Amino acid sequence: EAKTLKRPDWIKVKAPNSYQYHETKNLIASLKLNTVCQEAACPNIGECWSKKHATVMILGSVCTRACTFCNVKTGRPDLLDPHEPQRLAQAVKELGLEHVVITSVDRDDLVDGGANHFASCIREIRKVAPHTTIEVLTPDFLKKLGAAEIIVAARPDVYNHNVETVPSLYKTIRPGARYYNSLSLLHNIKKLDSDIFTKSGMMVGLGEKNDEILQVMDDLREAQVDFLTIGQYLQPTKKHAEVARYVSPEEFNYFARIAKVKGFLMVSASPLTRSSYHAGDDFQKLKNN
Ligand code: SF4
Ligand code: SF4
Repeated sequence: EAKTLKRPDWIKVKAPNSYQYHETKNLIASLKLNTVCQEAACPNIGECWSKKHATVMILGSVCTRACTFCNVKTGRPDLLDPHEPQRLAQAVKELGLEHVVITSVDRDDLVDGGANHFASCIREIRKVAPHTTIEVLTPDFLKKLGAAEIIVAARPDVYNHNVETVPSLYKTIRPGARYYNSLSLLHNIKKLDSDIFTKSGMMVGLGEKNDEILQVMDDLREAQVDFLTIGQYLQPTKKHAEVARYVSPEEFNYFARIAKVKGFLMVSASPLTRSSYHAGDDFQKLKNN
């Protein structure tokens, strides 16, 4: 039997309890929005929500895939809610967000994979909050022809899609997805509109080797991906994939340095880095430079 590794000190986070945290929580609840912060049991929720930074999860809270690292429910998906884009836009406006990250569950059941719903969300936000920058964090749209074009036409500022892990672990960690499909989706976005920044991320500590991490970086640069995030995988519950190792903060710094050298414009690599962690702050900084 595999023995469970002890969480190192650098993983510990503060419990969420600030006034602003509760304000964010109440607004999200009153507008009946789902967040990946809650569904994925993200360790940064106290910090992010205190700064009114939340990542909204559209297209329901039930996923048609079952990745072994992910805490989102799997099963029969929810009905599409046609009013969700307006409610999301209202939340963005009321929270006064400079930058918003919109993500979703996988919707293999929908003909367009949910691409039109993403596009509606972007358009609704532009109407009420024209200065907010918009980042979409999408599923892989495997076999959903035309999905990338639909989203590009709505012109998000950042198109984010995570490769999540190294290709050798896809079978066990990300079944149902294809590594090269994810790369070509990202490349395709850049080819369709080079003004859109592209972004991807991966988790470490799932059993990958360091060489494989560097190879993923090269593959992403080959697909002209601009931004990279790397964070420590944490096991959400005992039923999920085990943590194979805890990568030290020094090793994360090393990955960040290598990634910069390989040409990524923006890199976030630390134990608690998540795809949407500090996404707004980092993007605003880049734009102002
Ligand atoms: Fe939410 Fe992303 Fe912050 Fe986690 S890092 S709490 S998912 S915004
Ligand atoms: Fe979780 Fe995304 Fe995998 Fe669905 S596709 S199980 S939401 S990681």
